[in-house]
Amino acid sequence: MRLHSEIVASQLALLQKEFKKQTMSQHYPVIILGAGPAGVSAALTFKEAEIQALLIEQQPTCGGQLAAIPSAITNFALGWFASGAEAQLQLQTVLAKSNIAMLQAQVHEVRSQKVNGETFLPTLLTLECTIGNVAEKAKLSCDYLMVATGLSENKLSLSPIDLNAKVKYHIDQDLQNKRLAIVGGGDSALLKAIKLADQAKKIFVIHRREKFNARPDLSKAVAKLSNVEILLSSEIIALDGDGKIESITVTSAGALINFKVDIVLAKVGYVPNSAAFAKVLALDKHGYIVIDSLFKTSHQHIFAAGDITAGTVPRIGTAVGQGMACAASMIAEINGLRP
Ligand SMILES: Cc1cc2nc3c(=O)[nH]c(=O)nc-3n(C[C@H](O)[C@H](O)[C@H](O)COP(=O)(O)OP(=O)(O)OC[C@H]3O[C@@H](n4cnc5c(N)ncnc54)[C@H](O)[C@@H]3O)c2cc1C
Repeated sequence: MRLHSEIVASQLALLQKEFKKQTMSQHYPVIILGAGPAGVSAALTFKEAEIQALLIEQQPTCGGQLAAIPSAITNFALGWFASGAEAQLQLQTVLAKSNIAMLQAQVHEVRSQKVNGETFLPTLLTLECTIGNVAEKAKLSCDYLMVATGLSENKLSLSPIDLNAKVKYHIDQDLQNKRLAIVGGGDSALLKAIKLADQAKKIFVIHRREKFNARPDLSKAVAKLSNVEILLSSEIIALDGDGKIESITVTSAGALINFKVDIVLAKVGYVPNSAAFAKVLALDKHGYIVIDSLFKTSHQHIFAAGDITAGTVPRIGTAVGQGMACAASMIAEINGLRP
């Protein structure tokens, strides 16, 4: 498996190198933003239709949220995966085998501008990428943009600011004899509690609602762990300590309680990666991109698919299907096949 992943990584590196020669050209028929399951699925569909589509991803490799899935994936009809990393490797393999190059770049702002006196086309205004060791800024435009930028972890915002920076979103240390507070009540929070229970001395799971919104099997499993204390209808309101977190203040059933903890791990949901489009697209009140049944956004030349879209079911299968259907809808539009 390891050898295979190395081969895939080197194939991708070669593609990226090849690709760099063309990177700075200004205009593309299609740009796909985000190489998670939705973006990669769309890239394959454009490739099949022989339409040039530039795939842009801010991370060094494709996969998006797959990299963050610690447990087995058992709800994808075409196969089960031991973990997100295994599914990610599959996505990388498909990309490499299809000879689809990916440009590593972060897009900060998308606007709509007149290009060559033509209609208003999507323009990626501040696109930062590294070519070799040099950080470059490019301005690219395209006839059609597909947004598949997915979700990112939500961050806690607590006082004081210096301790807020000590809140962890991933555990990278030994938990022997440590007291851990996990904030959140979804799958990610409970999976962490279950995984870390035999390492930590004590775990508090703090969730602001009356019930967990995690899978029922996870809620049952966490309730059985002897060193895990569940605090429902509870909210962490402050961090305390001198240079490091030593305790937390929690409101629980109207009372203020202080718990001694060594580490706070936040798993407080996900937010849509839509800030770059806020000036050009209609978003719902939570920041998700509003689309119609053809995956078209409020902009005539911008489409969107996957977790970033309002009202979707945020799953791998949905993202893969939407990525393909969105690309097919764009291809119909590009080829003038729309009734
Ligand atoms: C802990 C966890 C467990 C999960 N378990 C399951 C499961 O068991 N089964 C299941 O079906 N689903 C599961 N999911 C959900 C699944 O991973 C997502 O639904 C799926 O990855 C969505 O794909 P996507 O392509 O829409 O977005 P993403 O996977 O979020 O990919 C978006 C990509 O866009 C990139 N991007 C974002 N902004 C920019 C920018 N400005 N410039 C350039 N690139 C950008 C990101 O880096 C990312 O690579 C889980 C998710 C998590 C976090």
